[in-house]
Amino acid sequence: MVAEIEAEVASTRKWLGKPRLDPRVVAALTKVRRHRFVPAINKRHAYENRPQPIGHGQTISQPYMVAIMTDLADIQPDDRVLEIGTGCGYQTAILAELAAQVYSVEIVPELANPAAARLRDMGYANVEIMCGDGALGWAGHAPYNAIVVTAAAWQRIPPALIAQLAPGGRLVVPVDRSTSVARFPYLDQDQELMVVTKDKEGRIAERNVLPVAFVPLVERSADPAA
Ligand code: SAH
Repeated sequence: MVAEIEAEVASTRKWLGKPRLDPRVVAALTKVRRHRFVPAINKRHAYENRPQPIGHGQTISQPYMVAIMTDLADIQPDDRVLEIGTGCGYQTAILAELAAQVYSVEIVPELANPAAARLRDMGYANVEIMCGDGALGWAGHAPYNAIVVTAAAWQRIPPALIAQLAPGGRLVVPVDRSTSVARFPYLDQDQELMVVTKDKEGRIAERNVLPVAFVPLVERSADPAA
């Protein structure tokens, strides 16, 4: 699986702006056993470089996508990291291998609770999971050196996430820019992976990386019917 990811990184080097993954990211991908995050029925596909269904209409992200998002977030050993969209917790585990502390928010309780139990069983003492609306971030532990969002934001980056980014921090987020109001099927949508940086003076810079296909970020707070 890791060799396939590295080959895909090499072939997308122009988009990524770098020819290969940080060796620390490769080490984390090699160490974390992906089959432990995949439902029994799909375990034999766990090391294929593609997303898999995990129930509740959600997916475990493609390993290549987990790899490049982690790499773009440039996680340092002392970092405090926020993840939005825990899902099964695979990306959470990769982040926990690299950072000092990971906070992760998942909106579906049926996913958040097993993910928290799974990561605890696997011995990750530096992970905290909350069930809630990640479009609002997790103000209680802010600011974060890095934020990784694993569901596509609608039209704009949620302002709370930019606010909770520390000076010098990196935010990696897929943004859906399609003009159609129908957000399904999301594979047809016009999503772009973006990296947002905040400099020491608090100035924001944005960069488009490459086109992607993520499940939508539910934004309850933005829904007038909520
Ligand atoms: N990080 C996961 C990817 C999970 S898919 C992995 O490693 O594979 C995206 C997840 O985002 C889904 O579990 C979905 O329920 C969750 N999600 C969607 N909107 C959300 C929101 N507003 N807050 C928190 N989680 C959200």
